[in-house]
Amino acid sequence: MLAMVLDAPGRALRSVELPDPQPGPGQVLVRVAACGVCRTDLHVVDGELPDPKLPLVPGHQVVGRLPSGERVGIPWLGWTDGECRYCLSGRENLCDRARFAGYQLDGGYAELAVADERFVVPIPEEYDDVAAAPLLCAGLIGYRALRLAGDGERIGLYGFGASAHIVAQVARHQGRRVFAFTRAGDGAAQSLALELGAEWAGDAAGPAPKELDAAIIFAPAGELVPAALRATAKDGTVVCAGIHMSDIPSFPYELLWGERQIRSVANLTRKDAHEFLALAPQAPVRTEIETFPLESANEALERLRAGKVRGAAVLVV
Ligand SMILES: [Zn+2]
Ligand SMILES: [Zn+2]
Repeated sequence: MLAMVLDAPGRALRSVELPDPQPGPGQVLVRVAACGVCRTDLHVVDGELPDPKLPLVPGHQVVGRLPSGERVGIPWLGWTDGECRYCLSGRENLCDRARFAGYQLDGGYAELAVADERFVVPIPEEYDDVAAAPLLCAGLIGYRALRLAGDGERIGLYGFGASAHIVAQVARHQGRRVFAFTRAGDGAAQSLALELGAEWAGDAAGPAPKELDAAIIFAPAGELVPAALRATAKDGTVVCAGIHMSDIPSFPYELLWGERQIRSVANLTRKDAHEFLALAPQAPVRTEIETFPLESANEALERLRAGKVRGAAVLVV
């Protein structure tokens, strides 16, 4: 099979022919049709996450078909032990021994992938392969972040990329008000936000137009934490939704005072995936996509790094 492979962090992916992967016991073979490109892939490629499998096939928003023809998705959570105290209490996203697709397990930047049959998810028929791919991480981890942000009406989204563009639509569907905070002068992201129902879009470094009930930070920039706290009302929550973030600068305690909370969101549970994939077609969530051929994965990653992707980037296999 053709695959894009990471030999070592900090290097470009290499296009190679690999032997077809063989599914082991309890695994399925998936013929990949599309694979979303996530900021986490960039963190893996850049060496910002410890101990990736090497060499590695990245990619954890995989849409493909089983030999039976059934269409499935392979999300980030690829395996859990099922027996630690997290797994046994409905928190498999925190499993001590969890393994993740496109990080510790080979993922979907390839023509074929294998996955644990207990962790693949069905894809809603309303979406074609490409449109469905970003639902599998940007969508469902974004959905988890929105849930953990609480029930507040005024939601601030910091960084308006793949995840925020989906979360904005879910939040609007739930009757909430959305405020989009982007890099200064990012007119493309701001116009997409307004198109998708945000009532305001502007510079994350500037003042918020309204006091927020909660904020979700998707951009990996620690300086947004005090900025979001400053914009958030008493009892509000600031959710850090990314797997990696630059250091958070110190800030005066008064920003946290008033029962404000800061929390992270880590990974997903299968329950999150099933809930979100049922909700997405009802909202309905529409995904804005830029496609790239599999062999152009490096270009897709570079556009993502530069903040140039409008919505989500997807590799077409
Ligand atoms: Zn566990
Ligand atoms: Zn992801």
